[in-house]
Amino acid sequence: MARPHVCRDGAPTLNRVDPAIFEFTYFAACMSCGFCHDWCCTHGVDVDLPKVNAILARKDEIACFTGIAPELWFDGNVQADPEVPGGQFMRTRIHNGRCVFLNSAGRGCQLHSFALDQGVEYHQLKPFMSSLFPLTFNDGLLTVSDEIAGRYLVCRDQGVSCYEGVRGELAYYFGEGLVQELDALAKPAKEIA
Ligand code: SF4
Repeated sequence: MARPHVCRDGAPTLNRVDPAIFEFTYFAACMSCGFCHDWCCTHGVDVDLPKVNAILARKDEIACFTGIAPELWFDGNVQADPEVPGGQFMRTRIHNGRCVFLNSAGRGCQLHSFALDQGVEYHQLKPFMSSLFPLTFNDGLLTVSDEIAGRYLVCRDQGVSCYEGVRGELAYYFGEGLVQELDALAKPAKEIA
């Protein structure tokens, strides 16, 4: 990249991009998908501690909304990672075989649903890594998740590129400068395709 792009939450800083983000495709319109059964939320997700604390600050309301006690939300195993906001994260627990925040009676993420229901901007409560999926990052490299690279994401190879699917989230977290730079890089990939 021409310059580093720092996440609005302080980390990570992106300075390289994997061309695979323009080449691999997935369904992207998640709530319109009729075949995946929210497979990508099966394994839970890493949540940076600032976001954990934002969720816990509304624990009574979220517990009421989800019907799941706060003690069941996170694994409590705090791990250090200088690339995540706040430098530490823990993971959501698996409950009945799926992420504890996945709606077991319908579709989608209940943190996202709760935010919409309460008129709260959803990024304040939805995990960063969930918003970025199926992209991820490693040592400053913006790249595709293992589910895409390993070709085992249920909705892989259809729909739009991973970059197009998450472009809005990248703009929110890293700013218009990043997506303008990535748009310019994406164009040759489209012309080749
Ligand atoms: S936090 Fe929400 S979006 Fe992330 S894995 Fe859990 S249910 Fe899915």
